[in-house]
Amino acid sequence: MKVAVFSSKSYDETYLNQANNGQHQFTYFEPHLDAHTAALSQGHDAVCCFVNDTLDEATLGQLHDHGIRLVALRCAGFNNVDLGVAQKLGITVARVPDYSPYAVAEHACALILGLNRNTHRAFNRVRENDYSLHGMLGFDLHGKTVGVVGTGKIGVAFIRIMRGFGCRVICHDPYTNPQALDAGAEYVDQDTLWAESDIVSLHCPLLPATRHLINNETLKKMKDGVMLINTSRGALIETVDVINALKNGKVGYLGLDVYEEEADLFFEDNSDELLKDDTFARLLTFRNVLITGHQAFFTREALEAIAQVTISNIGHFEAGSLDRMHQVNV
Ligand code: NAD
Repeated sequence: MKVAVFSSKSYDETYLNQANNGQHQFTYFEPHLDAHTAALSQGHDAVCCFVNDTLDEATLGQLHDHGIRLVALRCAGFNNVDLGVAQKLGITVARVPDYSPYAVAEHACALILGLNRNTHRAFNRVRENDYSLHGMLGFDLHGKTVGVVGTGKIGVAFIRIMRGFGCRVICHDPYTNPQALDAGAEYVDQDTLWAESDIVSLHCPLLPATRHLINNETLKKMKDGVMLINTSRGALIETVDVINALKNGKVGYLGLDVYEEEADLFFEDNSDELLKDDTFARLLTFRNVLITGHQAFFTREALEAIAQVTISNIGHFEAGSLDRMHQVNV
């Protein structure tokens, strides 16, 4: 198949070409896919997209007009696709459901350790010949209570790591996952999770029901000085509410790999430009906030798996054998 790859970086090209083995014809485009760039898909059978491409009604309509039959997402989340419109237009949407849960779970853990033990601040301090420990005081993870929202593949991988540290893990999910129980986590209702957790880590998808899940009301129910970690999707958090909670000490630590308005910021080198997002700029002023630019997925193993599953999804679509696990709109 002829596939137009959007939001393409050199690493996407490297890993897709390695896994492709001449099966499909890829054209790589750096811009995000949206209604302004959809024309680039002309002459292709499929588009291959990532987290910040916008597959709304306007974009999908154009893709349909250009004969696109498949959207092959090279990510797990699909909140950026209007599935109803895709369905109506007969465009199949495929995704990579489980490329490496370890990559994201381990990154959540890196944020926790970094925030708690201030390794990022120590890196700079030691380079300035400053070995003072002022502001470096951390806490033992051992014995602390970690609340996990969403016990799918990443949530379970994260539970196992936290149990390895000797944490008590409580979790919440509309569905009980026996693997979470086997890993030693205990299911509780949402309010108990907010009330008892020293660390809250979000591992659920962005859905209408989870948008701004962390807001003034839910923050009020949490422990003073709680550590909040979000490696899932930015809009799970109402950022302005969390900024207020950082200001009054309710949130003691904030670790983010995702941000609601990240589409205009992340994955690019903007160092020659002014930062125009005042909310993001305010977040950067807190020394107890650690932000990474949507890199939790970014390991060699994950990129290999993403490329392999994406190519297999395209092949299965062509053969009419895409299964329910990989097809989003069945
Ligand atoms: P998954 O589908 O295996 O698990 C998601 C879990 O969330 C499911 O068990 C589901 O029942 C649960 N859930 C749904 N609604 C919920 C709610 N209201 N409250 C609590 N739980 C709820 O997905 P996964 O592979 O574990 O991925 C989780 C999320 O991580 C993805 O949706 C994606 O947004 C994010 N992600 C981020 C990166 C990154 O690089 N930062 C990479 C991959 C995935």
